[in-house]
Amino acid sequence: TGEKLKEPPLHIVSISVEMAPIAKVGGLGDVVTSLGRACQEEGHKVEVILPKYDTLDYSAIQDFKEITGFSWGATYNRVFHGKVEDIDTYFIDPENGMFRVGMIYGTDYLEIPMTDAERFGFFSKAALEFMLQSKRQPDIIHCHDWQTAPCAKAYWEDYAPYGLNNPRVVFTIHNLNYGAELIQEAMTYSQAATTVSRTYRDEVSGHESIHENIGKFHGVVNGIDPDIWDPANDDFLPRYYDETEVIEGKAACREALCAYSNIPNKPGVPMVGIVTRLTPQKGVHLIKRGVMRALERGCQVILLGTAPDPTIQQDFDMMFHQLKQNHHDFMAFHLYYNEPLSHLIYAGSDLLLVPSMFEPCGLSQLIAMRYGTVPVVRRTGGLNDTVFDYDVDHKKAEWEGMKPNGFSFDGMDDGAIDFALDRAINLAYDKPKDFRALQANCMSQDWSWNRPALEYIEIYHAARKPY
Ligand code: ADP
Repeated sequence: TGEKLKEPPLHIVSISVEMAPIAKVGGLGDVVTSLGRACQEEGHKVEVILPKYDTLDYSAIQDFKEITGFSWGATYNRVFHGKVEDIDTYFIDPENGMFRVGMIYGTDYLEIPMTDAERFGFFSKAALEFMLQSKRQPDIIHCHDWQTAPCAKAYWEDYAPYGLNNPRVVFTIHNLNYGAELIQEAMTYSQAATTVSRTYRDEVSGHESIHENIGKFHGVVNGIDPDIWDPANDDFLPRYYDETEVIEGKAACREALCAYSNIPNKPGVPMVGIVTRLTPQKGVHLIKRGVMRALERGCQVILLGTAPDPTIQQDFDMMFHQLKQNHHDFMAFHLYYNEPLSHLIYAGSDLLLVPSMFEPCGLSQLIAMRYGTVPVVRRTGGLNDTVFDYDVDHKKAEWEGMKPNGFSFDGMDDGAIDFALDRAINLAYDKPKDFRALQANCMSQDWSWNRPALEYIEIYHAARKPY
């Protein structure tokens, strides 16, 4: 075998509507930032183009300033630049104010004459226009989900013939549940497409928007940013810990978590954490069942979650008040979004419950493991690729070069989740030494972007090959 030719660095521009930590709603925002950072660390040049929302967290943007502007789309678009987590980020601010509405998603419900699809359709093309006008010629335009799916066709039809012609398009599906009708077009017009786990790739491969393009469709399991999620260096925790002081570290975090939640700490029983959007995807009825089962087994439970749907939010509000009336004093629901609290829950829990009905990749189970918290998950999508059941997945884990690291279940009824949760709780109660060993397995596994970033870089190169 000859020496591998070193390919020149790539210039990658991600066009996205979410970016952690300044404009994050879910996993998409995390991926754009942490994949970008990982590619930069491999020596490539990464830029992100984002709408300039009025809700941006400016405290996390360095050297923010207006750099240029252009008239396009019946408005003037100001362009700002700043560094986000060390990534060059460009912000587009149309003067018609479509991104000055106090939110990232949800204008469909407001008295604004534009839907989310129209706002992001505008943004997708404005980003291309900015690239044309600033004479950028990146190697890769990376677009994400239905929001920036319109980039793919617009690039090939309206920009490639007119001078912005070096780039090839890579399109990533973070969640096919939204805007699937926009996704087919991007699948057709992109040179390579990805989704965020191998199992999810297989699960959606029969979908009409995908099967015609299955040959260029890859499953790459997401990573997490090891600097942001690092128990040994996490300023949101009252105490840092690494593999050698898991017990003490987690005990201190649990203490702080209970204090924050205004509940007594009961250190002898498992702490069950839940960090999630409360949407049908996440298995709302299974979340409720899991809370009940954990309480029946004497565990403490802390849930952090927001429901975009007000009836689901009210549901959890009601459940919480009923539980309190029934003297469940050792549990808490935090029904809002709170990044620092999420860190405290990942660190202070023993088990993290993720009973999703479907889950393209899922980040919370990966984060939990890094903090020595054992995931209990429904076996679907990325959860199937990353969680290996303590009792039944020894062989499967071995094939992947992994060790068992959690508990899984298949069905969607009470019995199914109870069975997995009970096995986890039993191990914690009855065999604390074995439970500690399982926590150590979790912490020892590398869920960073090291490996997936290399897969993406290969896909970027493949997208540039003539076909
Ligand atoms: P999805 O993208 O479907 O929401 P993921 O598991 O891929 O699910 O990503 C969820 C991310 O959002 C994780 O980083 C998780 O910690 C975070 N998160 C979810 N809900 C909350 C919340 N209420 N407060 C803080 N962080 C949250």
